[in-house]
Amino acid sequence: MSLSNGRSYLAIPGPSVMPDRVLRAMHRAAPNIYAGELVAITETIVRDLKVVAGTQHNAAIYIANGHGVWEAALRNLLGAGDKVLVPSVGRFGEGWAEMAKSIGAEVELMPFPHLEPMDMAQIKTRLEADKDHQIKAVLITHVDTSSSIKTNPRALRDVLDTCDHPALLGVDCIASLGCDRFEMDAMGVDLMIAASQKGMMVPPGVGFVFFNDRAAAVRDRLTYVSGYWDWKPRAYPEAFYQYFGGTAPTHHLYGLREALDMLLEEGMEAVWHRHEVLARAIWAAVDAWAEAGPMALNIKDPAHRSCAVTAAHVGAPAGAELRAWLEEKAGVTLGIGLGMSTEEDPKGEGFFRFGHMGHLNAHMVLGMLGTVEAGMIALGIPHGAGGLSAAARVVAEGA
Ligand SMILES: *Cc1c(COP(=O)(O)O)cnc(C)c1O
Repeated sequence: MSLSNGRSYLAIPGPSVMPDRVLRAMHRAAPNIYAGELVAITETIVRDLKVVAGTQHNAAIYIANGHGVWEAALRNLLGAGDKVLVPSVGRFGEGWAEMAKSIGAEVELMPFPHLEPMDMAQIKTRLEADKDHQIKAVLITHVDTSSSIKTNPRALRDVLDTCDHPALLGVDCIASLGCDRFEMDAMGVDLMIAASQKGMMVPPGVGFVFFNDRAAAVRDRLTYVSGYWDWKPRAYPEAFYQYFGGTAPTHHLYGLREALDMLLEEGMEAVWHRHEVLARAIWAAVDAWAEAGPMALNIKDPAHRSCAVTAAHVGAPAGAELRAWLEEKAGVTLGIGLGMSTEEDPKGEGFFRFGHMGHLNAHMVLGMLGTVEAGMIALGIPHGAGGLSAAARVVAEGA
C-alpha cells in the first residue's frame, strides 16, 4: 500500500517547491505589455534582484534556464579563440566549460575530484604561469549541484589578486542564490549568473546575469556580440521590450516579484540562516545513520558543503531503490546522483541528492528525513539509530 496521497514534495535540487504566494501571483489574466503595472514592477524586480545578489552593478534578465545564462554570460565575455580557465568540482562546472567550447572559446578545464574542494594552490600555480595573461576569465560554480561542493569565490578572488592577474572572475550561482550566503561585490566577483527555479522559488524559465563595470568593458571590446544574448540593451533598455529581447515573460515576472517580496520580507540574513540550519539538520541525520550502515555524505568538511543541496551515497542499487520507495510510498522525490558514475556503479545509482533550496522549512525537512528513515527500514538498509533526533536537535538549537 502507498502512503503517498497528500501534497507531494519535490526535494530535488531544482526546480524547487513553488510557494503558494508565487503561484497565486501568477494566476491572472495577461497584462498589457506596453504600459502600466508590468512595466513598473520590472524596474523594481531589477532593483531587488541586485539586492539579493549583493551587487550595486548591472543586471540583465533572459527568458532562459541555467544553460541559457551560461551561454548569455559567455557571449558577452569571449570572442572566438579567447581563453578561459574552468576549475571544476562537478558536472555543472564541466557543463559551463562545454558551453564555452561550443561557442569557439579556448577552454582549459581544470577538473578536481568530485568529492573534494578545489585546490586553490594549483589554480594559483596555473595563473602564475600565464605570464602574458592569455586567460580572459576564470569560471567556477559557487555550488556545484552534482557534488554539492561549495567554493568560496572570495578565496579565488584573493588568488587572482595575489597573482596580479586581470582575468575576470565569473561565478555560477544557479543553485546557491537565495540559499548559501553570497555577496557579489564584497566577494570580488565580476560576473554572476542565476536562474529562477532554485533558491528563487519561481518556475524554470527566467535567468539572470549580473556584471560589474570590468565585465562590461570586456563586452564593449568585443568585435561582435550576439544580438539576442547581448546584455547591454537588457541592462540599459531604451524601450521596455529590450529588457527581454522581445515579449516580456509576463507571468514569470509576477511570480518573481512575489518571490523577491518573500525573500526581502524575511531578510537575506534570515534566509541564509534558515538554509544553513536545515542543511545541518540533514547532515546530522545522515551522520547518525552512517554510524551503522552504508549511507554517508559525499563531502567531509562542512565548510565546503552547500546549504542548498546535499549529495550522499548509500551504495547501488540501494540509492535508486530508496528514491523509488520514497516517491511511490511517501510522496517525496529525492534527486538522482549526477556525475558520480564509477566502474562498479556505471549509472551512479548508489548516489542521490537532497534538494533543500528555496521554499522549505523545518517541518518539511524533518518530514523528509522521517520518510528516508522509513524507507531504509522498509528496504532493509542498515543504519545507525538516532538520525531523526539528531536532526531535531539541530532544528531546536537553530530555531
Ligand atoms: C541547475 C544548474 C544549472 C543548469 O540549469 P538548467 O536550468 O537546468 O539549465 C547550471 N549550474 C548550476 C550550478 C545548477 O545548479
